Amino acid sequence: MNISTKSKKLFVGFNWKMNPNTLPEAKTLFHVYNNLNLNVNLNFLPVVFLPGIYINPIQEINSSKINVGSQDISDKQSGAFTGQISGQMLSGADVKYTLINHSETNRDQKLDFETISNKFIQALQNEITPILCISFDKQETAKLDLTKQLQNIFTSGLIKLIQSKNTVFYIALEPVLNIGSGKALECSEIDDYLGVIQNCMSKLELNKTENYMTLYGGSVNAANILEIGNCDLVDGFLLGGASIDPDQINQIFNLLK
Ligand code: PEP
Repeated sequence: MNISTKSKKLFVGFNWKMNPNTLPEAKTLFHVYNNLNLNVNLNFLPVVFLPGIYINPIQEINSSKINVGSQDISDKQSGAFTGQISGQMLSGADVKYTLINHSETNRDQKLDFETISNKFIQALQNEITPILCISFDKQETAKLDLTKQLQNIFTSGLIKLIQSKNTVFYIALEPVLNIGSGKALECSEIDDYLGVIQNCMSKLELNKTENYMTLYGGSVNAANILEIGNCDLVDGFLLGGASIDPDQINQIFNLLK
C-alpha cells in the first residue's frame, strides 16, 4: 500500500512532549531525524515539535535543516508573562510551526477560547504556521464538541487575518481516548469527524486545501500510518509516542519517503 494518490505532501508532526530529560539525550534523538532527513528529497513534510528549552541547542546541530516546531506559543506579544514564550522569540529561533491547544496543554492550563484565538493570531503575525489541535473525550458528544470549539476559536477577526495572510494552517483531530492508548480510530470514524470539521469550517468561509489541511493524532505508528494516511480526509498526522522511539522514526521515514 502507498499513499501516492494524495495531491499534497503529507504533514508528519513528531511531538516529543516533555521528553527526553537531558540535552545530550535530546541531541542523540535528534540525530536520528538529522540522518534520515539528510540529502533526501522526502515525499512528506516532517516537523519535530521540541520542548522550548531544546529549540536553540537543537537548531545548532540541525544539519539537515529539518523543520522545528514549538509545542505552544504565548497569546501575548511580550511583557510580564512568566513562563511563556512569545511568537517573536520563536521565530527568532527559526521556528516555523507551533502546536496550539494540544489536549495536554489544555488539560493542564484550562485555556479559554479567546486565549486559543490569540495564540493563533500571534503565530500568524510571526509567520509561524499554527497546528490547531481539536480534541474530544466523549464519543456521544464529539461532533457537537468539535463544532463548538471551532465556532468559538475562529472569530471574525481571526478569519479576516487568515484570509489576508494567504497561508495554509493545520487542524489536528485528537481524540483524547486514543492518545497514548496504542489504539487509533478507524478510518471511517476519522473521516466522519474530519467531515464535521470541514462542514463547520466551510460555514466559517474557510476551505480545506486553500486555507487549511486536516491531520489525525492518536496512537499513529509504523504499523498503522499507511492505512490512516489513506483515509480520504487525512492530510497528515501528529505523533506522540512514536516520535521519541528511534526504531519507529526510522520505519516511518522509510514507509513514507
Ligand atoms: C499526541 O499527544 O498528540 C499524540 C497523538 O500522542 P500519541 O501518538 O502517543 O497517541
